[in-house]
Amino acid sequence: MSPPDPARLALNTVTVRERWNLQQAIEGCRRHGIGGITVWRQDLADLGLAAAARLLKTSGLTVTGLARGGPYPYADAAQRDAAIEDTLRGIDEAAQLEARCLILVVGGLAPGSKDLAASRAMVRDAIGGVLDHALRRGVALALEPFHPMYCADRSCISTLRQANALCDELGPGLGIAVDVYHVWWDPELEAEFRRAGQTRLLALHLSDWLVPTTDLVLDRGMMGDGIIDIPRIRRAMEANGFSGFHEVEIFSARNWWRRDPDEVLDICRQRHRTHC
Ligand code: ZN
Repeated sequence: MSPPDPARLALNTVTVRERWNLQQAIEGCRRHGIGGITVWRQDLADLGLAAAARLLKTSGLTVTGLARGGPYPYADAAQRDAAIEDTLRGIDEAAQLEARCLILVVGGLAPGSKDLAASRAMVRDAIGGVLDHALRRGVALALEPFHPMYCADRSCISTLRQANALCDELGPGLGIAVDVYHVWWDPELEAEFRRAGQTRLLALHLSDWLVPTTDLVLDRGMMGDGIIDIPRIRRAMEANGFSGFHEVEIFSARNWWRRDPDEVLDICRQRHRTHC
């Protein structure tokens, strides 16, 4: 088994957000030899978009993604239009940051609804409505399937198969972000990586599934501390043409968010080498 290329380690700023702002996260990546960074739109508030874009450019870091567009299921037309407007702005921001993709977190059930099929249709229509703009701006949209436990409130797209089907339907410009935390359990993973191929496999997000997990959102583990066979997933993606970064994205209110971010990044580097 070939070990992961250390030059392809990236940091999602959520991993250190409790302690570091964007500028500190950029400096931290530089200090620790981490080559890529995924930023959240709220990270840009302090500096403003233009200054953040300049800072990222001069840092030499690859902007592996911008989080995020969505949610799309809506209760009324005003909500629908607001979500689309917001995603169009997100596409423009991703273009200015030269981000490799804009991550889409599509949303669960529409407010007050139990109609999952209708919510999925809203997602399809919303993404279909912004895709032209993304293509014009040269921004890839990365659909991120979420673990089914989030189907009600975060993402009614749960599997790689669903994501591939939406990509088939909507066409070029739409790809997939693979988060091991969300898809590790999926028996069709390898087959769906093959179906996706190089053009659709846009991002790889890393953390680990702890047993037991004490919080559905904020208790992700560091790679190696849980039960996900991360090397298997990474190799399967790379065997199907994925050549992007390995991005650490850890939501961890009780552990990693409380630690010194320099220690966290040290451990990220070690675990990337030994457990990815
Ligand atoms: Zn993710």
